[in-house]
Amino acid sequence: MTDFSPQRLHRLADERHTLAPAEIVALLHAQDHDLKALYAAADALRREKVGDNVFLRGIIEFSNYCLNDCAYCGIRAGNQAVSRYRMPPEEIIARAEHADRWGCTSVVLQSGEDPWFTTPRLCEIITGIKRRSAVAVTISVGIRSPAEIRELRAAGCARCLVRFETSDRELFARIHPDETFERRIQCLRDFRAAGFQTGSGFMIGLPDAPLETLAADILYATRLDLDMIGCGPFIAHADTPLAGTPLLADREIYFKTIAIMRLLNPLVHLPATTAFDALVRGGRDRLLQMGCNVFMPNLTPGQYRAQYQLYPGKPCLDEDGAACAACVMKRVEKLGRLIGRSPGHSFKPANLSHPAPDDDLGL
Ligand code: SF4
Repeated sequence: MTDFSPQRLHRLADERHTLAPAEIVALLHAQDHDLKALYAAADALRREKVGDNVFLRGIIEFSNYCLNDCAYCGIRAGNQAVSRYRMPPEEIIARAEHADRWGCTSVVLQSGEDPWFTTPRLCEIITGIKRRSAVAVTISVGIRSPAEIRELRAAGCARCLVRFETSDRELFARIHPDETFERRIQCLRDFRAAGFQTGSGFMIGLPDAPLETLAADILYATRLDLDMIGCGPFIAHADTPLAGTPLLADREIYFKTIAIMRLLNPLVHLPATTAFDALVRGGRDRLLQMGCNVFMPNLTPGQYRAQYQLYPGKPCLDEDGAACAACVMKRVEKLGRLIGRSPGHSFKPANLSHPAPDDDLGL
């Protein structure tokens, strides 16, 4: 593909809702004028389809215990160097209540795969949050059974995040020894069947993953027809087997990936994920100018933050929730954008009222 004009990219996204893998690889190689055109097209499409609002989704990292040993993650079970913590349920509920006051219209409850937080316990937390605040709740706790997922839905949780990380099954198996790609995707399907708004995503710049793999991941995420897509750079933690994995030489590839995600997914919520600030100063601000419409202030209480480092260089470790939310608001306003005041539900109306039919996701 040689014509990267914003008009043509716009048209492609509108007409086809997909690109060929080779076209995506060509976009990932874009430089100079073409690169600017790609970012401009993604930003224009974002404005046209989902508007200028930036929705704040406060993330509460409530437990860093994890059963799994993902080969890059700082809180993997085998990492003895990390001090483990679990936030008491009442503290999690209180944080969500604060989130509301700090301008976050939704919270993401995230943890490792921690069996102490049984589904009944999670349901109590969700019910407690719903009783005391109006925030929407996203759950990001790994795999749960279909019955457990239905219990979470009945408790009032309507959003989930289950990242597939890469669509390359062999690569997935190499870096996730305790998990299978199929189980993750099945879990995502179970959430969708239970009426959840679904979020997923992948890592950019995985070891031994050529641009063709990245293109396949972009297409796979698009095919999942998600309500939210969260992608971040692959940055392995120092205390893990993959420590020292180099970043991609062309740092723009991380950003190009996000812009392409917007082009192919006009109606998705696209967060400027925190790891982009670890990659490059002001990374998240750049993302808001190339397709992103969600920002995720860290609302984890200060005393726990240093112990929840999935990757090194995580920003804002010395701040607290109020400071993080205030800082995020300033960043958003500086870009001339508005803070979303609604819960920021899915932009896909059909996904709000009807669980999608069981579809073919390549299983
Ligand atoms: S990536 Fe998630 S599942 Fe894997 S070790 Fe880290 S917290 Fe656990």
